[in-house]
Amino acid sequence: MKSLRELYRIGFGPSSSHTMGPRTAAERFIHRYKNAKKIHVVLYGSLAATGKGHMTDRAIANALAPCEVHFDWRPQEFLKTHANALGLQAFSTEGKLLGESLFYSVGGGAIVEEGDKNPEAPEVYPNLGMTSVLEWCRRNGRHIWELVFEKEDVGLPIYLQEAWSTMRQAVQSGLGLQGALPGGLNLERKAYGFYQKSRRSDPVFRRSGLLYSYALAVSEENASLGKVVTAPTCGSAGVLPSVLTYLRDLLDLKDSDIVKALGTAGMVGNIVKTRATISGAAGGCQAEVGTACAMAAAAAVELMGGTPKQIEYAAEMGLEHHLGLTCDPVMGLVQIPCIERNAAAATRALDCADYALLTDGEHRISFDEVVETMRQTGEDLSSRYRETSTGGLARHTKASRNPQSTGS
Ligand code: SF4
Repeated sequence: MKSLRELYRIGFGPSSSHTMGPRTAAERFIHRYKNAKKIHVVLYGSLAATGKGHMTDRAIANALAPCEVHFDWRPQEFLKTHANALGLQAFSTEGKLLGESLFYSVGGGAIVEEGDKNPEAPEVYPNLGMTSVLEWCRRNGRHIWELVFEKEDVGLPIYLQEAWSTMRQAVQSGLGLQGALPGGLNLERKAYGFYQKSRRSDPVFRRSGLLYSYALAVSEENASLGKVVTAPTCGSAGVLPSVLTYLRDLLDLKDSDIVKALGTAGMVGNIVKTRATISGAAGGCQAEVGTACAMAAAAAVELMGGTPKQIEYAAEMGLEHHLGLTCDPVMGLVQIPCIERNAAAATRALDCADYALLTDGEHRISFDEVVETMRQTGEDLSSRYRETSTGGLARHTKASRNPQSTGS
């Protein structure tokens, strides 16, 4: 498993796989061909199917500027290695081919290049499952975050502090903005209104209202190309900051507590990323929002003083109850159902944490088993439900046929 720096990437939305990853690939490519004047970009599979809504072309063209960029969209063509592929060819002013490369955007902003034998990020953990993590905690009488800090370099807590500051900033900016989101759905930002109403509501509603507000704030920032942290992706970036912000205020937590919780949540996300997938194009939304919910549930138990076994239980529930969740963004925009889904997952994450804390951590289905189940379920999902916007809500709703009419 790689460093948590690879999981918590700080960058610009709206999509880790469709904008952050392709942008990185384009930057790497143009660095090799500094004299190129024209670039031909082929977008395959999911990158082509939802790339317009996700603004993939804009992210790539920005990275390749000032080159002249031509796009070839091939939504029906899925390459074997991954559903998100992009080919780049560089040409000189005279039209001579200078070089070409094929990249895969494999989820969470990470890219893999065809034929690359030296992946850029080194492995810092053995290929751990949660069972062996729990065993390490039991044997040593220590916490999950302590294993993370032991394996990573000494700079990790500083990086996690930076990630937390970025999350807080995204919550703050999202709560302060009103108006419609970009992209053509004319979807109204809701975080501001939710926050104002929640603050005046009774304690029962306040908890859900605040969690919704914070998740909406970050997801709306993401949808408008704002700065977010992949947790584990851009589309699911609202869940973890929401739960952390709510608990920080409720329990009067210090930044150092949050950094430890990010370590625990990161271990959960890293296991899913390594053993299954965090890519909506590969596994549907269960891989994105399901994983985000598991990470946030784990962080919440950590912050509320639970044991490693209770953390494992909460994470298992967070993922289990998202199994089978499809990815079907309307018009390919990371807005419907994504934004509301982050809000719903934030409250579910805290519910899973409460539930696990009421137990001694013993339960029947292990986190590792549910991760494997999610992987298999993702493979079984039709490609219509894996970020191609050709099925589900993207196909069968009024909003998808007449975007201007939607108020949801
Ligand atoms: S439906 Fe889920 S997986 Fe698909 S783009 Fe939205 S948040 Fe990402």
